[in-house]
Amino acid sequence: MTLPTPLHAPSKASAPRISFVSLGCPKALVDSERILTHLRAEGYEMSRRHDGADVVIVNTCGFLDSAKAESLQAIGEAMAENGRVIVTGCMGAQPEEIREKYPNLLAVTGPQAYESVVAAVHEAVPPAHDPFLDLIPPQGVKLTPRHYAYLKISEGCHNRCTFCIIPALRGDLVSRPAGDVLREAEKLVGAGVKELLVVSQDTSAYGLDTRYAASPWRDREVRARFSDLAGELGQLGAWVRLHYVYPYPHVDEVIPLMAEGKVLPYLDMPLQHASPSVLKRMRRPGNQERQLDRIRRWREICPDLALRSTFIVGFPGETEAEFEELLAWINEAKLDRVGCFEYEPVRGAVANDLGALIPPEVKAERKRRFMEAQAAISLRLQRAKVGRRLSVIIDEAGPTVARGRSKADAPEIDGTVHVASRRPVRPGDIVTVKIERAEAHDLYGIAV
Ligand code: SF4
Repeated sequence: MTLPTPLHAPSKASAPRISFVSLGCPKALVDSERILTHLRAEGYEMSRRHDGADVVIVNTCGFLDSAKAESLQAIGEAMAENGRVIVTGCMGAQPEEIREKYPNLLAVTGPQAYESVVAAVHEAVPPAHDPFLDLIPPQGVKLTPRHYAYLKISEGCHNRCTFCIIPALRGDLVSRPAGDVLREAEKLVGAGVKELLVVSQDTSAYGLDTRYAASPWRDREVRARFSDLAGELGQLGAWVRLHYVYPYPHVDEVIPLMAEGKVLPYLDMPLQHASPSVLKRMRRPGNQERQLDRIRRWREICPDLALRSTFIVGFPGETEAEFEELLAWINEAKLDRVGCFEYEPVRGAVANDLGALIPPEVKAERKRRFMEAQAAISLRLQRAKVGRRLSVIIDEAGPTVARGRSKADAPEIDGTVHVASRRPVRPGDIVTVKIERAEAHDLYGIAV
């Protein structure tokens, strides 16, 4: 995701101006928001263009080689258009690679190193002193539209999936106290946010590092437990959507909250594969039969539950038989939304040495077969919604047509509901829509 300087404030001659590029996943986006919030609090202004800004910050993503290439390109553009550039984010954990290409950068700092980024900005262009300057809204600076916001509940990851270098880049799991998360969520809702998207590297592991320590919230103590936090968030009056949840047994506890309407009936669970032998090589929990049972039970408790997942095809050593196990599994599980990635040998990942690398044409062919199978499943599930009335949150609105998302659709990754409406609607409105037509991704209907 690229968000070149979506924020700007009225120009003030004395205030130094920052141009900001945010790349990568929602977790990186939250880091960008924190850096910007800090800098805006100090009186820096945002510039929409590199050209003319006092300094450019590039928040990079280093997860895949393609993301690294995109980050290097963004740095190159910032150097060409401005020349005073600070690099931070995941790729900043490997400064040599960046410095080799761009030796004249002002600074390179790693992920979660807010203080170092801010210190580098101070060094490049000191903040203008203005004791009356307090332009920061209580919810901080947001890069998302006003009506939804990502809520990051922890940093780092305690897993060691063999295809992933995130723990090496971002360190072990560090959970935020539940009270802190809830106070941030409350401010966001108070500022008009209608949908909270809970993110972390592994949301279901929340609190494991603090032994689920309790912290004060309102008149009570709340434990840093996944289901306790979800229950409290569900009382704030906004949609609560859970991302990056692994189907561990304790996840069962949030399904009744979904059935009761406290938390959206939506789970984003990156399963990655279904063959036990591949899952073992990936170092992921491997009993997919049990996962199927669990999914069946969840659907009995909450029939509207929408399940999204991502899978990797062409993992080193993946045989045709292992791939077919995956196909059989998705045909059985009938997940609502699925993303599929071809394995990319990220430098430093253990997985690269776990089996023969799969030729690109085989990976592409497996991805095609996988997506074909899933498209048929998605279409059947989507068609079952025709004639139903669904709650839809509006993202973009014109005079008579609007685009939004149902409870089954997260922003950026899932489908869109195209809404015809006789009365004007605004972004953030939640309207009831009668569904008239369905495609594999999108739905079409009329506001009632
Ligand atoms: S859960 Fe696995 S894939 Fe996700 S960040 Fe942790 S190590 Fe990486």
